[in-house]
Amino acid sequence: MTATIQKAATKNSKSMIQNIREEYNKPSKTKKRTISMEVSFICSGNEDRKPIVEKDKDKLSQTEAYLKLVETNWRKNFEKSYKIINELTGLDFKNDKFTVFVTNPNSNVGHYLGNNKIIWGHKEKWENYSTVYIWHEILHSKIRYNNEEDHQIGHSIIELVTDYELRKRLNGGKYEPFEKSRPMLLDAKRKILPYWKEYLKSDDKNIIKFYKYCKTLKSHIRN
Ligand SMILES: [Zn+2]
Repeated sequence: MTATIQKAATKNSKSMIQNIREEYNKPSKTKKRTISMEVSFICSGNEDRKPIVEKDKDKLSQTEAYLKLVETNWRKNFEKSYKIINELTGLDFKNDKFTVFVTNPNSNVGHYLGNNKIIWGHKEKWENYSTVYIWHEILHSKIRYNNEEDHQIGHSIIELVTDYELRKRLNGGKYEPFEKSRPMLLDAKRKILPYWKEYLKSDDKNIIKFYKYCKTLKSHIRN
């Protein structure tokens, strides 16, 4: 894989696309499709970690009602969304346990805190909004980056998986125009898009390999 990638990185973009198509169409020898992940939802005011303190009683009851909504939607969508994410990423989240600290929906917060902990509180801008973005935060636990270049590539890939493809498969619609909520990722996302479209055609997807592949294209993606 590494050798193929390095070779690909020196060729022009057309042959890179051919290369990625071949790479991702290789049959897999080990395929696991077990659902064993667990996601718990906790009102942020009930935990030691209190990123947003809900002093106001009304706000707290709003948060509790919102928690029920988020959890109900998550459970309702879980089987379908899991299958989509599993197919798109090749990740089975085997034995993964995540905790979502739900805050007031007006706090407009969505963040991966590390150690499989997520903080989430946002108005439902469209159908299945919280489900899509909790998957987004979950993917932050798998696609990591330490510098700005890798951040642009990794975060763009997370967006393509969840904010765009998962949303499209759950709700219909199309990708573009891209939302401008993270303007710093727009350019990288547009450049990754042709590779992403090829990746989507492959039968045996592996998002970590795809991320590594895109990192070898840094200069191509950045220029
Ligand atoms: Zn993110």
